[in-house]
This record gives sequence, C-alpha cells and structure tokens, in this order.
Amino acid sequence: MELLQRYLRPQWFAAVLTAGFLLAGIALQLAGPRLLGAFLDAIKSGATEARLSQMALVFLGVTAAAQAVRVTAAYWSERVAWTAANGLRLDLTAHILGLDAAFHKERTPGELIERVDGDVSALAGFFSSFVVQLLGNLLLLAGILVSLALVNVWLGLAFAAFVLPAGWVLGRVREWSAPAVREHRERVALFYGFLGEAIVAGEDIRASGAEPYIFDRFFSHLRGWLPVALKAEVAGQLVWVTAVAALSGGTALAYGLGGGLYRLGAIPLGTVYMVVAYAAALGRPIEAIRTQLQNLQRAGAAIARVTELLALRSRLSADGTGSLPAGSLAVEFRGVSFAYEPGEKPVLDGLTFRLEAGARLGILGRTGSGKSTIARLMFRLYDPAAGEVRLGGVNVAQAGLKEVRSRVGLVTQEVQLFAASLRENITLFDPEIPDARITSVLETLGLKPWLERLPAGLETPVSAGSLSAGEAQLLAFARVFLRDPGLVILDEASSRLDPATEALLDRAMQRLLAGRTAVIIAHRPATVAQVDEILVLDGGRILTHGPRAEVRSIAEVRPIAEVLP
Ligand code: ATP
Ligand code: MG
Repeated sequence: MELLQRYLRPQWFAAVLTAGFLLAGIALQLAGPRLLGAFLDAIKSGATEARLSQMALVFLGVTAAAQAVRVTAAYWSERVAWTAANGLRLDLTAHILGLDAAFHKERTPGELIERVDGDVSALAGFFSSFVVQLLGNLLLLAGILVSLALVNVWLGLAFAAFVLPAGWVLGRVREWSAPAVREHRERVALFYGFLGEAIVAGEDIRASGAEPYIFDRFFSHLRGWLPVALKAEVAGQLVWVTAVAALSGGTALAYGLGGGLYRLGAIPLGTVYMVVAYAAALGRPIEAIRTQLQNLQRAGAAIARVTELLALRSRLSADGTGSLPAGSLAVEFRGVSFAYEPGEKPVLDGLTFRLEAGARLGILGRTGSGKSTIARLMFRLYDPAAGEVRLGGVNVAQAGLKEVRSRVGLVTQEVQLFAASLRENITLFDPEIPDARITSVLETLGLKPWLERLPAGLETPVSAGSLSAGEAQLLAFARVFLRDPGLVILDEASSRLDPATEALLDRAMQRLLAGRTAVIIAHRPATVAQVDEILVLDGGRILTHGPRAEVRSIAEVRPIAEVLP
C-alpha cells in the first residue's frame, strides 16, 4: 500500500483514467454477445431489414469502441506503470549509490542490477493494473454469471458450479508447475552468470590455456539445463492444456444446457448463442485472474526485497552539513582506528599524524599495511571506528559527503572508463568545462601528442579496454586536476606507467601539485622522491614519520628496510 501510495499519488489522475478505461472495456466485452443474441432472435422473429441493419451497426459500433477502449487502456496502464516503476528505479539507484563502501563490497553489481531492474519490472504490472485488473476480471466473471442467471436461473447456477472447480484445478496445476518454471529461471541466471564471467575473463582464460575447462563447465551447465527446460516447457503446456480442457468443458456445458433449454422452449435461439459466447468468454477472466495472482506472488517477493533494500541505512554516520575551508586542506588523523568488519583485528590502530596545508606526504609500507585504507578514510568511503579524520580543521564526519568528495581528488589503480567521448570521460559529463582547460591539463600531463594522434580529438569515442592501462591512469589524473581539489590522494596511481612516462608524470606532478596538499601512496620509494614528508606504515601503525631526508637515511638501517617493500 505504501509503495502504491508513494508512486501512484503523483499521477492519480492517470491512474483513475486507466481504471475507468479498464472497467469500460470490461462492460463493452459483456455487451457483445448480448447484442448478437438479440440480433439472432430478431431474425427469427422476422424483424424488418432496416431494424436488422440498425442492430448490426450498433454491434459494429460497440465492437469498434471495445477495441479502441482496449488500446487506450493499454496505453494508459503502461504509462502509469512505467512512470511509477521509473520513479522507484530512480529512488533505488540513488539509494544504492548513497550506501557505503561496505555495502558495495558485499553485493555484486549483477545482484544490484537485478534489484533495480528485475524486481522493479516485476512490480510494474502491480503498479499499473493489478488492483483494477483483478477487481475488473472478478467483476467480469460475476457479470457473465449474473447475465446467464438473468436469462435462466439454472444456467447461472450450472456455470457457477462449473467455474469454481475449474479455477481450482487451474490453480493446482500451476502450483504443480511453478517449481519447474522457477528452477528453469534459476538455471538461466546461473548460465548467464557463468557465461558473463567467462567472457570477461576471456584473455586470462586463453592465456592460461583453460578453454577446455571452461567448455567442460559450459557443457555441464547445458546438461543441467536441458532436463529442467524440458520439464518447465511441459509444465507450461500442461497449464495451457488444462485451461483449454476446462474451457471446452464450459463450451460443452453451454451447448448442452442451451440446446436442452431451447428444446424445452425455455429460451430462444439467440439466447443459446449468447450462452455459448459467454461460456467461451469465461476463459479470459479466469486466465487473467490466474495471471494477476501469479504476478502478485512475484510482486510480493519483489516488494519484500525492494523495501528491505530501501530500509538499509548507510553505515556512515549521518551526513553532515559543514563545509571545508577553501584552498588547500591540512590533513590530521587523531587516534584513528578502523576495521572493515566490526570486532575484527583493526586494520588501522590508533593512527595520529598531521600534514600541513600545501605539504606533500608519501606513505610507504608493505602490501596490506593499510595504506589504501587511509586514503579511503580521507575520502570518507568509511568512517573510523575511533578517532577523527580532519581536513582543513573540520572533522570529515561533520562535513557533507558531497563536500568531501568534491574537495578531495582520489586517483587509484583502478580507472573506470565510460562508453562515451574522451571529453566526457575526462570531464565526467560536465559540459561547462571549456576545451581550453581540458587540453591544457592534458598538455601538462604530457598527453598532447597522444591527443593529436586521435582521429576525432576530444570527441573520439572511448570505451573500457580501448586505452592502455597507463593512458587510462593519466586520464584519471586529468579528471582530478580539472576539478581543482584541495587535497589530492594518489594511491599507487603511477604503478602502471613505464619508467619514462612516470618520470614525465613526475615533472607534470610538480606543476599540478603546486600549492595543493597531496598524499602519495607508493610501493617504490622512488615514486615518493618529490614529497616533503614520509610516513612508513607497518601493520596499521606508524613506524616512522618525518621529513623525507631524515626518514630516508633511517630507512637504510633495519628494521624499517624490512617493512619497506
Ligand atoms: P597494497 O599495498 O597491497 O595496496 P595497502 O597497504 O593499501 O596494500 P589496504 O588495502 O589498506 O592495504 O588493506 C589493509 C588490510 O585491510 C589488508 O589486510 C586487507 O586484507 C584488509 N582489507 C582491505 N580492504 C578490505 C575490505 N574492503 N574489506 C575487508 N578487509 C579489507
Ligand atoms: Mg593499496
């Protein structure tokens, strides 16, 4: 009810209109057989040609109107459904993007896509027409039975006695076939999961000669799939066959009863036709109600998952509203401890250090010592378990998330490219940034010759995999510097560049980092040759921190030499 209210209220007028058209369609459906029956009776009772033509015209008009109403109802119900579903998609996507990094670590992108698209699509029908369709078809069913009863009480009763068990049998068959269909869907999902993974990993698979293994798994998927698919297909057919059999039973009943009553002179021939037509028409509401109940099952599961997701709160403490000071930002860690999973051994353990605004800090340490974790805390992907991270004197937990993310530039090893033009990949779809600025940043980064070689310059389409890892990393630098951040964090950002490019980049960095606070995380001590201070991390604790020259000279002696990679 809450979902219906939230997403249907803004378009209540369209929703009411849809309901109106659906109900009008049902009424017109009931009118057709009645008119034809009357027509037949009129012929028998020797009505004039003019009268017959008139009746035929009315019938044509009603049929045409029924079709028109049907199309209009379909248009409006799709419109209502899509508008509501898109609203929900938007809210879900925004919600998911707002959740913390811990959430995203636990869920695969595929699963989230299934939530945002699969579940919401299952809900679309629920939004547009569920209530109206279910009520409408129940009404239609009742209407047919009442019409029959009005003709002849026994007809009405006989059909009511027929409809109920027929509906029950159909429901049972479906219940029996549902697991097969569900298992089939699961197999399909498994197979595509496997196929997607295999395609993405194509290069690695070929390189390690694992094709036979992959094909073996491919065949075992298909082997598992075939019997399930057959069973699901047969089960589906069985539902259909049962429905047809039930309907044929209804038609036979109509002919039998109609014929019998006609013989007895209880009803005229036209009414016999009407009874037969109604019996045939019974199939539609029964089938529609069955589908709606099936949709309700699917929608119910989807509603549960969607509301569960919407109820999840980010593990980041409430978003602040404070703003960070302009210009370059000083960094301060005060007794910061952090663990990825609450209760586990801390990854960072009581970290305290300070970096003045405009200064450059190099962080060194072995793999797994917690360097990237420091970067993530400054970027506020996580909140520390204890202590404070301060930027420009402001606790990041009290500054708005947006503020922190827009003032801190983070370049990591992983660069995400979008299927868009080079310009859009650099500006991240901000059309305000003038070309001159983009080219000047690219020039500073030494990318000018590369840019000039591209066929369409900044408009060249770029997609994942169309740039070398090094080029992509340079693009990530360009992204950060276009935004003019007050703090730049480079997390092993130059590790994919060859030594010559890295040297080139070092010079560019000198210019780009001038006057900005920078934290440079590196594996190789050579990468931090330009920094003012060095911090050596070991197992989440600071081993040493001081001016570069000092730390370097200590680093010659053990034990620091041992913790440096
Ligand atoms: P590297 O030099 O390999 O990049 P690092 O110093 O950057 O290493 P971190 O990524 O900060 O190391 O990881 C520190 C510790 O935290 C490691 O033991 C790692 O296993 C753990 N860790 C890192 N990321 C997560 C995560 N998302 N969830 C759980 N544990 C994590
Ligand atoms: Mg790291």
